[in-house]
Amino acid sequence: MTRFSNNQRTTHASLGLIALLAGTSAAAQGLDSHVHGNAELNVVIAGQQLQFEFISPALNLLGFERAPNSAAEAALLDSVVADLKSSEWLVGDALVDCQMSSVAFETPEFAESHAPDGDAQKHDEDGHDEHAQGTGGDAHANFSVQYLFDCPAPPARDISITAFSHFGGIEEITVQWISETRQGLARLTASNTVLALE
Ligand SMILES: [Zn+2]
Repeated sequence: MTRFSNNQRTTHASLGLIALLAGTSAAAQGLDSHVHGNAELNVVIAGQQLQFEFISPALNLLGFERAPNSAAEAALLDSVVADLKSSEWLVGDALVDCQMSSVAFETPEFAESHAPDGDAQKHDEDGHDEHAQGTGGDAHANFSVQYLFDCPAPPARDISITAFSHFGGIEEITVQWISETRQGLARLTASNTVLALE
């Protein structure tokens, strides 16, 4: 009984840490951690639960980082969003026995490629396009998703990350992870895809 309640407390504390990790990465994200080709993965493993938070520049997944400007680009965006709603692109069938829920999902907020609402209408005929140029050049946008896996038994501590073969624009994933007893940092690439949570 004592041991059980200890575990419960540990689980609770560990799951609280994803908020901490998420907060840290979200804060960093707005500044200078947005590097094309790189993505971040925050992982908390606690008992039979595993939580992933994945944050990536939109460019890595889409090949562009602005609002779609053709039917083909719009379709691509739709298909990436559909992919991200399940977790197969990230972990293959490694956690197929677990119940997955997508606990958070943020699609990129692209800067408008036209001038903002009123301006676009009013000044269109005058050909005032300065605002569009000003915001278009250095705008960046991210995808951010979180998955929670509830597993029937403690999940494997070696998980093969399949993101690289699914999205060719992802070159490196920086992983921060926390388990009941340890934490670590890992850098995964297409030739080094196994995340060892121990
Ligand atoms: Zn960018």
